[in-house]
Amino acid sequence: DTMIKFDGVTKIYSDQTVAIEDISFKVERGTTTVFVGPSGCGKTTTMTLVNRMQDPTEGTVYYDGADIQELDKVDLRRDIGYVIQEIGLFNHMTVGENIATVPELKGWNQSRIDDRVDELLELMDLKPGTYRDQYPNALSGGQQQRVGVARALAADPDVLLMDEPFGALDPLTREELQDEFLEIQERIDTTILFVTHDINEALKMGDNIAIFDVGELVQYGSPKEILHNP
Ligand code: ADP
Ligand code: ADP
Repeated sequence: DTMIKFDGVTKIYSDQTVAIEDISFKVERGTTTVFVGPSGCGKTTTMTLVNRMQDPTEGTVYYDGADIQELDKVDLRRDIGYVIQEIGLFNHMTVGENIATVPELKGWNQSRIDDRVDELLELMDLKPGTYRDQYPNALSGGQQQRVGVARALAADPDVLLMDEPFGALDPLTREELQDEFLEIQERIDTTILFVTHDINEALKMGDNIAIFDVGELVQYGSPKEILHNP
């Protein structure tokens, strides 16, 4: 069952930079696909076509069977969680309020929101009683990024986009979050797209790996297939 499909997609920016050229691939529902490759090869651009932060110049992106151009952008973005390297928590809001952002936009009632916030804090290994009412600045980088992941998952998105989510963390914390996130992956049925420039992280996190090289998708397959056809 295909959740996301790129069919001959090209993105050329207004300054004529060709960010990706004629890319095609399919992502099965509930799997994690990792985009890996050096800086500037089009990974982030590919992600931004999925939540329509950008539109393709040529080709078609399909989301759950529909041409993405025909979907409402606001609905689409509420259906898609987004985690970036630079965390991007709202510093004037508590941890709990940060996580509640999208459920509130969706109009969930307060007790459902409260339950969900606590459930996610537990999932991310942050004691709700200790962390719910703290402000992000009081937390370590690793804890803040856990809150970022919790916020992105809060309203049960169908798709989660993660752009170098652990890239700003020290190596030990990064490994800790990778391991935690692997466990979380097993408990959710979200379709995940994950960007990294670290091939080891890609092999560890991905059901499938898409290897990019300057605007082209040069290889696509499971970690096993990638390792056997380097
Ligand atoms: P990444 O961390 O994914 O490599 P970059 O540092 O390349 O991202 O880009 C950061 C931001 O600047 C992004 O929003 C990207 O769209 C934008 N950007 C990158 N390159 C250019 C460019 N040549 N002209 C205009 N904007 C750019
Ligand atoms: P990656 O995520 O792999 O680092 P990007 O998708 O950010 O790659 O960028 C791919 C290419 O497109 C790079 O050459 C980058 O400078 C360029 N680019 C990215 N965003 C923009 C933008 N908004 N305007 C112009 N060029 C951009």
